[in-house]
Amino acid sequence: MSDSVKYLLDEEHLPRHWYNINADLPEPLAPVLHPGSKQPITPDDLAPIFPRAVIEQEMSTEREIEIPGPVREVYRQWRPAPLFRARRLERALDTPARIYYKYEGVSPAGSHKPNTAIAQAFYNQQEGVKRITTETGAGQWGSSLALAGSLFGLEIVVFMVRVSFDHKPYRRAFMETFGAECIASPSPRTAAGRAILEAHPDSTGSLGIAISEAVELAVQRDDTRYALGSVLNHVLLHQTVTGLEALEQMAMADDYPDLVIGCTGGGSNFAGIAFPFLHRKLRDGLATQFIAVEPSACPTLTKGAFAYDYGDTAHLTPLVKMYTLGSGFVPPGFHAGGLRYHGMAPQVSHLAKLGLIAPRSYNQLECFAAGIQFAKAEGILPAPEANHAVRAAIDEAEKCRLAGESKTILFNLCGHGNFDMQAYIDYTEGKLRDLTYDESEVAMALAGLPSAG
Ligand SMILES: *Cc1c(COP(=O)(O)O)cnc(C)c1O
Repeated sequence: MSDSVKYLLDEEHLPRHWYNINADLPEPLAPVLHPGSKQPITPDDLAPIFPRAVIEQEMSTEREIEIPGPVREVYRQWRPAPLFRARRLERALDTPARIYYKYEGVSPAGSHKPNTAIAQAFYNQQEGVKRITTETGAGQWGSSLALAGSLFGLEIVVFMVRVSFDHKPYRRAFMETFGAECIASPSPRTAAGRAILEAHPDSTGSLGIAISEAVELAVQRDDTRYALGSVLNHVLLHQTVTGLEALEQMAMADDYPDLVIGCTGGGSNFAGIAFPFLHRKLRDGLATQFIAVEPSACPTLTKGAFAYDYGDTAHLTPLVKMYTLGSGFVPPGFHAGGLRYHGMAPQVSHLAKLGLIAPRSYNQLECFAAGIQFAKAEGILPAPEANHAVRAAIDEAEKCRLAGESKTILFNLCGHGNFDMQAYIDYTEGKLRDLTYDESEVAMALAGLPSAG
């Protein structure tokens, strides 16, 4: 019996460009609106928040954007990342499907997030920024930016969602080891945080609240900018390095995916693996299907409204058109902390609206079961977020078995779960439950959507 196969690219195959899907959208994205005037924003509106190079990328329609030399230099430490054929999992499932996964857990932070953290730190440093503020959910993004900040000599301040701050002390220690300051959110440090604490002293926090705090701090000082780890076009752009490598690796395997799968919190790891393949689909008319997998307890794409909304709770960010559960929605405290966001990347939302992406949701127990089945076969323990993609891949492989049909399945194993052992302990001790979101809270949050567009 053959073991799982690893497809590894030589260093010279590390992509030289990221892929910008804005060049190939069948219809353009709805414009981003200024939160005050409700008019399309200009680069100047964003200048207090982001460096110029990032703003340019956010608005660009160039198909290929060069990866700067110093960013490629850092990428080289773990990129090109391996692609595996999961033969042992295929055997365990007794499926005729061929299952491949791109493994992003080989980065120093253990996930795909450094792909954009390194790029954003580089552009900020180039433009003389001294300090970057940000939010983090599970801690993956904060860890990645802390690492990037230490490599490029930048001070990093991270607002960490309270529930994760309490559940994940090792993530906090990781950030602090790299010199970052880590603050539980909501915090008394900002007006946004104080307002939430006054109304809800026991608030478990949310990404929307933490973003408000980070943006508030960033605009107060001239030497400070803000960085977002998902959702925005430039973040999804940086993540395409994953899918561009996977395209070449699938060619090495002499195969091509029928299905491309990723989990979706803000949409960046999904976009990273999917967009380069979506480009081929749009260009060459291929039949490839794309599945975006989210938690049933925060069902943005499957149950949200497609509307203009704020990216944060205090309404400091511009308005973007996306699938949203409402910026006031606080999802229940399930373990895939990286998937607890009320919105979804505008690009991913737009493509879902156009029917080019099929969204799907799962409960956490079935995802942990899939993650453990995967770990036993392949030897890698996935992050709780990644378990959503694993669940969908296994379900699709089982459909193939029942139908006696062979399909090629590719999914993004976007991170390892070595910092998430408390979640696995809770699961094996039977303490984990499927959480349901509060429908009346979503209805309330949606009723508060801004009138725009
Ligand atoms: C942050 C994170 C996610 C969710 O963010 P996306 O932008 O949707 O990728 C998913 N998985 C892991 C491992 C993460 O760190």
